[in-house]
Amino acid sequence: MNKTKYIFVTGGVTSSLGKGIISSSIAKLLVARGFTVNIQKLDPYINIDPGTLNPYEHGECFVTDDGAETDLDLGHYERFSNVPTSQANNVTTGVVYQSVITRERKGEYLGETVQVIPHITDEIKHRIKLLAKRGDYDFIITEIGGTVGDIESLPFIEAVRQMRWELGRDCVVVHLTLVPYLAAAGELKTKPTQHSVKTLLESGVQPDIIVCRTEKHLSEGIRTKIALFCNVSPSAVIECIDAETIYDVPILMRQENLDQEILKLTNMPFDQEPDLTDWNQFLYALKHPTGEVNIGLVGKYVELKDAYKSINESFIHAGTVNGVKVKIKSIHSEFIDETNVTEKLGNLDGILVAPGFGERGIEGKITAIRFARVHKIPFFGICLGMQCAVIEFGRNVLGLTGAHSTEFNKLTPYPVIDIMEMQKKIAGLGGTMRLGAYPCRLKPGSLVHQIYKEDLVHERHRHRFEFNNDYLEKYQNAGMNPVGLNEKDNLIEIIELSDHPWFIGVQFHPEYKSTVARPHPLFVSFVKAAKEYSNR
Ligand code: GLN
Repeated sequence: MNKTKYIFVTGGVTSSLGKGIISSSIAKLLVARGFTVNIQKLDPYINIDPGTLNPYEHGECFVTDDGAETDLDLGHYERFSNVPTSQANNVTTGVVYQSVITRERKGEYLGETVQVIPHITDEIKHRIKLLAKRGDYDFIITEIGGTVGDIESLPFIEAVRQMRWELGRDCVVVHLTLVPYLAAAGELKTKPTQHSVKTLLESGVQPDIIVCRTEKHLSEGIRTKIALFCNVSPSAVIECIDAETIYDVPILMRQENLDQEILKLTNMPFDQEPDLTDWNQFLYALKHPTGEVNIGLVGKYVELKDAYKSINESFIHAGTVNGVKVKIKSIHSEFIDETNVTEKLGNLDGILVAPGFGERGIEGKITAIRFARVHKIPFFGICLGMQCAVIEFGRNVLGLTGAHSTEFNKLTPYPVIDIMEMQKKIAGLGGTMRLGAYPCRLKPGSLVHQIYKEDLVHERHRHRFEFNNDYLEKYQNAGMNPVGLNEKDNLIEIIELSDHPWFIGVQFHPEYKSTVARPHPLFVSFVKAAKEYSNR
């Protein structure tokens, strides 16, 4: 058994500096050196998980194989490192307090006063170490959400301080800060970094490595100054310059020796260079496309950068396989109707209708799908997008006037999408959907079977409603085919149209499984179809 080393990633000065990308890049570099790595995020908010948060709050909710609804940074972890995450990889203040309070109610503290220190901090440390116990890991990377100095992150920082003290050199703290450029003064400023390190020091944590997010290169002078004021060696001051793409960051961090610095501090070998051949090939393809395709992303959160994060990233992966740049045109479903659909969607090479909840924008999605179906434009429906395709087909092909999902109209005469039997008895909203990976049997001879080149696939779900099998025969006879089936529960997971070059709706979320190392076959094939359509 290895002695696991712990890497903590904290952030200072401001949020949105890219701790998730730095953590993912560290994971990528260590994996590329042959180390075994797992990576987790500790989120200081009180929600048990982001499942009940709307995308305006924290962007997309990422779903793991074991059905955890997690922070979107776990998506980056998987896409960069190709290591699958799980429930144990995302811990919130809510989860920590819930387990401590449950234990208190059971009397397990034997009459002690239950306190933030040691009970909450012990629980946090337990969660960090738990991840290490799940495998034979060389490194556990723990990203602490929020910014140092936040009231709510204090117990997490205290847990880091304790682990640091207990583990000594088996523990490294990487602190990400901002070095802003003041145009008026014409110089980079180190003061915010000094202050944020001081804040960490007030909590008893001396960072080992300072990663400086900056828009201009750091001079030797700046590096020396940061080193001096923050008690780290100059080689531990790492420049993290604004990059063209997030996928450049592992390479930039390699050039800055971030991985080597970590290995040096933890007494791990660094005589061999990491193998980044595949990553560099991917980057080359990403930066040298030979064409482009225009994909319409139809959804109701399109103005939010992070709401469809995994879908956007999946298109980047799929574009490189096809040698094209995928230009995503965000189209707000609420504003699509018969009068403007041609103008809004007419010039696209492919249309993706996004997942979602709630009635807002549904009719626009249905209008968009009809347009894609009739004009034989490649169409990809994900979760709610698939359900809308079923509703559209019911209304406009089968003549089921008023067909709907019972999520939006309980009294519809044709409930072609209905609540799942297993969901009927469930009361609460948090963590109660059909979540995580389920097997899906593909129909031989179908398009999806050709695409996956497999008989049985496992894809991740997050939904309550499903295709209503009472209508199956009608749909099949008219050319909308069930081509993916969950055999155990007899659920239709994939539909495709016979009379269309590429029209696929999936009840699951393929976007959660696309990584740089393994772009998702459905996205790859969809982009290929869009490319062919654009060459028509
Ligand atoms: N609202 C739909 C359901 O619960 C679709 C969910 C989704 O798109 N993730 O079934």
